[in-house]
Amino acid sequence: MPDPAAIQLPDDLRPSDGRFGSGPSKVRTDAVQRLAAAAPTYLGTSHRREGVRVVVRRIKQGLADLYSLPDGYEVLLGNGGTTAFWDAAAFGLIERQSEHLSFGEFTAKFAAVTRGAPHLEDPIIVESPPGTHPAWKGSDADTFAMAHNETSTGVTMPVEAPDGRSADRLLIVDATSAAGGIAVDLTQVDTYYFAPQKAFASEGGLWLALCSPAAIARIERIAATDRWQPPSLSLLIALENSRLDQTYNTPALATLFLLEDTIQWMLANGGLAGMAKRTAASANVVYGWADASAFATPFVQKPSERSPVTATIDFEGVEADDLAAALRANGIVDVESYRKLGRNQLRIAMFPAIETSDLEILTRAIDHIVAALQK
Ligand SMILES: *Cc1c(COP(=O)(O)O)cnc(C)c1O
Repeated sequence: MPDPAAIQLPDDLRPSDGRFGSGPSKVRTDAVQRLAAAAPTYLGTSHRREGVRVVVRRIKQGLADLYSLPDGYEVLLGNGGTTAFWDAAAFGLIERQSEHLSFGEFTAKFAAVTRGAPHLEDPIIVESPPGTHPAWKGSDADTFAMAHNETSTGVTMPVEAPDGRSADRLLIVDATSAAGGIAVDLTQVDTYYFAPQKAFASEGGLWLALCSPAAIARIERIAATDRWQPPSLSLLIALENSRLDQTYNTPALATLFLLEDTIQWMLANGGLAGMAKRTAASANVVYGWADASAFATPFVQKPSERSPVTATIDFEGVEADDLAAALRANGIVDVESYRKLGRNQLRIAMFPAIETSDLEILTRAIDHIVAALQK
């Protein structure tokens, strides 16, 4: 077998951008150029002053527009990314007990957080095999936790609460890889939270949460109890700071700038519906190719559960690691599968900033490499 890293792709099989990773993911080059142009008066300036706060304000307004934010909902933000938000939710959003749909690495991690929290009852955890998603048990938990898109396995599920959603039964949704790429009706959700290094084509280190009035009331109620909360993870402190267009402690200003730039780009290109259209077109290309391929198959069996933003593709008769190595040698990066899944698989991001035409070229590049490896 030829050395995968020695395979050279012809020019017409080289995408215009080689970044297909599921997070951090492709950052739009023109946004980086605008950041460079703005840098002398923006980077290295105070986040308590208007120059940065206006960016935070535009992020809040832009997300409100993008999501048709229902009456009374608010945009919260803070530092530490989604992982920090899980800790914050365990301290300040879950009252007594949570129920979790656990169907991959990320949903399992949040369930582990609440299992370890000494002030909470053991969570109810409903699991299903990788490549599928479970259904609500509908326990008497006060908080129901799911992911809109399980990035580790490439499974998406509808945002639907169990029966009897109310102020005492909140639905909180990890939308880290879904937000910006999959449409959602926020009236059905109490907290839709994410980080901007995936579909929003920005950098990591920030979390954002779109919160219903019931979620805000919950945050305020828990903060008034004697439960100890670390200030950096306090959702009440995050709420108060977000209302002032700032974060509790210093944020990464580049992250904010790139996020705001992408939100404006999304709004100018059809909003959330336009983005969902883009990712659906990309998903058609990638799954259509895999369905028709002799050596590639979509990992997720049910077409309705196949993610339109992160495709997981199984391979037979060829090592996915060799494919990834050959692609990487040609500047096409981060399509390796989620390691812990342990499958002969590639994972390909199809976030809005990733061009459908580049994904089409990628599928042909893979076909070319498979043929070259079999020589
Ligand atoms: C990437 C990801 C996370 C982790 O996000 P961080 O910002 O790195 O903490 C959590 N949940 C999902 C669904 C993800 O895709």
